[in-house]
Amino acid sequence: MSGSAGQRLVPIVHHWRRSPTWLSWAFGETFGCLTGRNDVTRKRNTAFTMVELLVVIGIVAVLVSLMLPALKRARDSVKRTVCMNNLHQIELGVEAGARIGVRHDRRGGPGDGIWQCPADTFYPSYLLPGANPPFQYVRRSLYCEPDADISSYAFDSLPKAIINNPSRTVLVAEASAFAPWSWHSPSNWLIFSDAWNLVCFRDGHVKWTRTFWDGTSLPRGIPPPKPESDPPPSYDYQWSGK
Ligand SMILES: [Zn+2]
Repeated sequence: MSGSAGQRLVPIVHHWRRSPTWLSWAFGETFGCLTGRNDVTRKRNTAFTMVELLVVIGIVAVLVSLMLPALKRARDSVKRTVCMNNLHQIELGVEAGARIGVRHDRRGGPGDGIWQCPADTFYPSYLLPGANPPFQYVRRSLYCEPDADISSYAFDSLPKAIINNPSRTVLVAEASAFAPWSWHSPSNWLIFSDAWNLVCFRDGHVKWTRTFWDGTSLPRGIPPPKPESDPPPSYDYQWSGK
């Protein structure tokens, strides 16, 4: 039985090896005018020509270049989703704060990962005192900063009692929103207007929003920002509870 099966298999493999592959055939049909191959030569020569190989490489390169932006968009979207979930978890902790307490730092205990934004991989050096030189990007996560007990997020420390507009007033946001710059959509500038950040408001909703900067005053350090630094009304957030 095994012998007859082998005898049947051999001619099939033999035939497949000696015939033009479907890819070679497709190129012969499609690019015959470029490669100089026609029906007669195709039957004699079943190997790839250099031109065909280069065309394949070119097509693969074009496909990869088309795919890369889509992959980057997908990765960015996942990072924003994780970050948004972190802010929701922190807000829930604040709501329950009277009973369980809320850690505003990153050390000790499970669940501390919620204090790290996955896009937090760099920060302006002026966020940490004594940085030298004072104005450059530090290619390290703020969350992983070894000499300070800080997270990727920061609180607007306004007392709850004076909040009149909870759906516009910041409770906790990415630390980059306070500077302002952006981890998720970085720029070559250390500070820039309309940096995109995730912000959690006093009423608990989280929004991906633009951060205002007037281009004049240089923010130094993390919060609290002054109430008079509220952005124009066209922006979706405010620091003060007005
Ligand atoms: Zn984030």
